[in-house]
Amino acid sequence: MSESQVLTSEQKAQYLANNGAMCPFCQSDNIEGDTLQSDGDVWQNVRCLDCGGEWQDIYTLTAIDQPDLRD
Ligand SMILES: [Zn+2]
Repeated sequence: MSESQVLTSEQKAQYLANNGAMCPFCQSDNIEGDTLQSDGDVWQNVRCLDCGGEWQDIYTLTAIDQPDLRD
């Protein structure tokens, strides 16, 4: 990728609607993420192997569970 592209709010919304499964720039599923990082917020650097786009997935705590106590 030669220069950064700015994602539109529509591209971001579509990425989230796809659960982060496809590149927000070119819609490829040939993407790979680094390990999760945390310093209060949790995020992951992700890149597209087809178009070279780079972005960050940002994670939010959404639920709590006790799997050992399930039926
Ligand atoms: Zn891409």
